[in-house]
Parts: sequence; C-alpha cells; structure tokens
Amino acid sequence: MATTEKKFASQADLEEKTISFDKLSENAYAYTAEGDPNTGIIIGDDAVLVADTQATPVMAQDVIRRIREVTDKPIKYVLLTHYHAVRVLGASGYKPEHIIASQDTYDLIVERGEADMKSEIERFPRLFQAVESIPGLTWPTMTFKGEMTLWLGRLQVKLMQLGRGHTKGDTVAWLPDQKILLSGDLVEFGATPYAGDAYFKDWPHTLDAIAALKPEKLVPGRGAALTTPAQVQEGLAGTRAFVTELYAAVKASAQSGKALRDVYKDTYARLRPTYGKWVIFDHCLPFDVTRAYDEATTYPDPRVWTAQRDKEMWHSLEG
Ligand SMILES: [Zn+2]
Repeated sequence: MATTEKKFASQADLEEKTISFDKLSENAYAYTAEGDPNTGIIIGDDAVLVADTQATPVMAQDVIRRIREVTDKPIKYVLLTHYHAVRVLGASGYKPEHIIASQDTYDLIVERGEADMKSEIERFPRLFQAVESIPGLTWPTMTFKGEMTLWLGRLQVKLMQLGRGHTKGDTVAWLPDQKILLSGDLVEFGATPYAGDAYFKDWPHTLDAIAALKPEKLVPGRGAALTTPAQVQEGLAGTRAFVTELYAAVKASAQSGKALRDVYKDTYARLRPTYGKWVIFDHCLPFDVTRAYDEATTYPDPRVWTAQRDKEMWHSLEG
C-alpha cells in the first residue's frame, strides 16, 4: 500500500474507457465500457427495454445513438436493476413510458436515494459527465414484488428478484427462450464487486438461483458481456469467490476482536494478490470491508452512506 493517503474513492480515476455495443441475439445487446457500469438492451417486436441507464441524461444519449443504429422501435421501458445513482440517474434521457423497479428498490430510493446521489457523485466524478443534466432522483412508475413478466409483442421478458445480494432490491431481466440474463451488479466480470450496500450472507444463494436458470449469455453489471456458458460460469464463480472470501476473512477477524482498521488492512493484503487486478479494487475494498464488518457484527441491514460518512470512513481506514 502507498505510504501517502490514497485519493478518496475514484477521484483520481480520470481515464476514458472504450465502449462496446455487442449483439447477443436478435433481441439483446450489451453496452459495456471496460468495467464502467453497463447498460443492457432488449428489443422486442414493438418496443425496446433499457436495463440501467448510465449516470446522466447526457450520457444516455450515447446509448440511444447505438440503439438507433440497430432499431427505430420506441424505447418504452427503463428497468432499474437496483437504486444506485450511477445506474439510474440517466433515466430521463430515454423519455420512457415506464420506469420499472422492484418495490424493495423503490423503498430504498425513498429511504436513501438523495444521500446516495450526493455520495456517488463525489466518489466517482468521471462517471457523472454533465452532472448538471440530472433532473433529480429517478422515480419508478411501476413496481413489482418477486417477479413480473413483460411481453414485448411475442418476446417474453421476465423481471425477477432472485434474492438479496448487491442490494436489497436486486432485479434481473431474463429472456427464457434465449437463455440470456441481464444481472445488474449481482455479477461482475473483471471488475471488483461493490458491496457497500450488500447482504453478504445472501449473495451466494442468489448466485445459485442465477446459475439454476442455466444462462448461456449474461450481461454483468460491469465488465465485458459473457457470450458462452463457460464465460457465464467464470463470471458467476469469480463474483462468488470474491464475496465469499471477503466475508469469511472479515468475519474471522472481527470475531477475534480486531478493530475495523486492522480488519481492513488484513483483508486488503489477503485479497489483493487474487483480485487486485480487477478494476475499482482500491475504490471498493474500504466500503466492502466496512459493510462486511457491520453485517458480521451488529448491522443486519446496510447503513446509509452519506458524502460525509464516506470520507470519515475513508480517512479512518486509509489515513
Ligand atoms: Zn450498484
């Protein structure tokens, strides 16, 4: 670790990424950017669904431009896989008829949407291009509990809560006929899972539920689209290994009575050889270890991050 304090979160990350727009089938595309947040696109007979929006309406315009290269069907639906600002605050750019989320995600927006917006903008300024174009929080117009089905003409799209993991409200989109899954941040590939709002004990079970669907292609929350069953397995296994190892390490340290700062240093040293090459490793680890420590000790539910709590935590672990 560097001897001087690391710059807070990703404030030092200024390098632009290369965007890919990959066709997974006649109906599914992946907008990915080398580990920046992904957007999934589902094109039905009569309408388009966009899963996760990018961080600002201005950034959404590049997604729309790519969609318009392959279809002129209206973008009627935006799906929020969860509440994080970097994925939802571009929604107004699509002018959708409906914004769909789980009721649990809606409840999180009510409870902590405002605090999360301020916190995320300060953590990762590069990901909020034209931040002034954000009109405010994104409010779902349609919510569901557990599962709902959208019929885009003859194309069946299942929106499902398979369990808690990255957040309480995680939702996946599933094309059963084509075995294609859009996972949101429940699965990452070559990118470090952010777990500051996670349920570590539940997450592996939710990954089991995803694996049970036997997806053949998968758009992760971050990282390249997974286009073969073997790649999907690799994405699921990598995410599972990270979440499981981190939680086990933190729990053992916490139960031996160590202070959070020491737990963090031990866990960082232990995970870095395996996972340090994944993007945003240094950004995520302090948040992930803090949440794992909370879950292993006294907080079954994630505490709200605020811009101030972010910086106090960072200073106490990295200072
Ligand atoms: Zn997220």
